[in-house]
Amino acid sequence: MNGLPRRVAVVGAGPAGLYTAQALLGSDAALAIDVFDRLPTPYGLLRYGVAPDHFKIKSIARALARPLQSPFARFYGNVTVGIDIDADDLSRYYDAVVYATGAQRGRRLGIPGEDLPGSAAASDFVSWYNGHPYAANPLHLESTRAVAIIGAGNVALDVARMLLSTVDRLAGTDMPNHVLHALARSRVMEVLLIARRGPAEARFTTPELREIGELPGVETVVSASDLDDVVVPPDDRNAAGNFEVLRSWAARPAAPRAHRRLHIRFHRRPTRVTGRGSVEALQCADPRGVHTETLPVQAVLRSVGYRSTPIAGLPFDHRTGTIPHDAGRVTDPSGNVLPGLYVVGWIKRGPTGVIGTNKADAADTAKAVLADLPGLPRATHGEAGGLADLLEQREVAYVTREGWERLDRLEEELGARAGRPRVKVADLSMMLAACRGGRTPA
Ligand SMILES: Cc1cc2nc3c(=O)[nH]c(=O)nc-3n(C[C@H](O)[C@H](O)[C@H](O)COP(=O)(O)OP(=O)(O)OC[C@H]3O[C@@H](n4cnc5c(N)ncnc54)[C@H](O)[C@@H]3O)c2cc1C
Repeated sequence: MNGLPRRVAVVGAGPAGLYTAQALLGSDAALAIDVFDRLPTPYGLLRYGVAPDHFKIKSIARALARPLQSPFARFYGNVTVGIDIDADDLSRYYDAVVYATGAQRGRRLGIPGEDLPGSAAASDFVSWYNGHPYAANPLHLESTRAVAIIGAGNVALDVARMLLSTVDRLAGTDMPNHVLHALARSRVMEVLLIARRGPAEARFTTPELREIGELPGVETVVSASDLDDVVVPPDDRNAAGNFEVLRSWAARPAAPRAHRRLHIRFHRRPTRVTGRGSVEALQCADPRGVHTETLPVQAVLRSVGYRSTPIAGLPFDHRTGTIPHDAGRVTDPSGNVLPGLYVVGWIKRGPTGVIGTNKADAADTAKAVLADLPGLPRATHGEAGGLADLLEQREVAYVTREGWERLDRLEEELGARAGRPRVKVADLSMMLAACRGGRTPA
């Protein structure tokens, strides 16, 4: 084996991709790692999914930045694999390619009326309030009084908290200014969280549930009858914690002076979104379909999970929404390992688990890469300028680490001027201009 480093590409600069790059760089192997992302920015859902008011989690970015600061790693932002370059290009330029493209799309409910204006995936709203450059606000907040959120997990709670918080509370976050202005004009007064199953099955984690009950000026409403006959499994501490919180809410006196309300409705199955031209109501049935109910709302956000997108040239299991693999090694539909191709994170496991889950997962995938590398053939196009030349030939305006760091500093400067930790730039052309070293209007 000659002494040249082995070349590894990581596609996706979210937590899973960056933890994998870090695990690879931490090994004894001589490696040159290129990390690609379709966005000009790293961190994936840490930047564009995690709620802006969850400062402690957002601070994980400092740890995720580490591999990008290594002299043995490069960042290629604003490069979409499948559009600007494809899986074959990567396999020609790299000895091993790790796919860490996550899951960006919200699942559908499959009910009539789901596509009416005002009905959208919660993921679209999440992307918008986090300043994702490809996202638009799916809600018309100025004419919406009541929003139904379908789902009983933490993403549903994040979305509810953003809709119920005062703008003063959110002004301390990194939300883009246009998002804060839109939320300031919001007329939303009622948020209805619609859970298909009962309180013992809800997937909220207790601290997040408690947090929403502590929002100033917000009344949390749970019907005592929804809590009757609930059996909490004795070994499920989270369900027990949730149940305690819900019981305390049900016992609270009514708060007629609250300016906003969160209602949690259990055992409701959404059956239809109705409206002439835009959402006017959500119809629900009880689990047995005996009783139906029409909830007058002007918006419906479904928060029933995320789904990955296939990557051209790679196998994809449409049933699980993941790339099939054997211990992180990509496999074809017959289960044979495709040498040099790996997966990690949500595209590997499906859209579950917190950020830390991806660290252990990344360690597993990195282990497979490191075990295989000595036996993998060297890429045919691995030398010097490498993929940068190809991107330039194709006129792809890729963003380097230095470019991203310019944007990062600009956002911090905009934040410092406004007394905020950072103000995100959400407009793609402004982001790219900042990465090139140009100024953007404040
Ligand atoms: C709304 C929401 C809130 C969350 N809140 C929390 C929380 O509070 N705490 C917590 O611990 N976890 C939270 N999570 C979970 C956490 O975000 C995930 O566990 C984690 O982000 C998954 O990492 P990943 O790298 O697999 O995917 P992602 O974070 O999605 O990263 C994938 C990256 O791949 C890039 N990419 C996709 N396709 C391509 C392509 N074709 N070419 C190039 N690049 C591509 C994307 O731009 C993205 O940067 C939350 C998740 C969501 C959805």
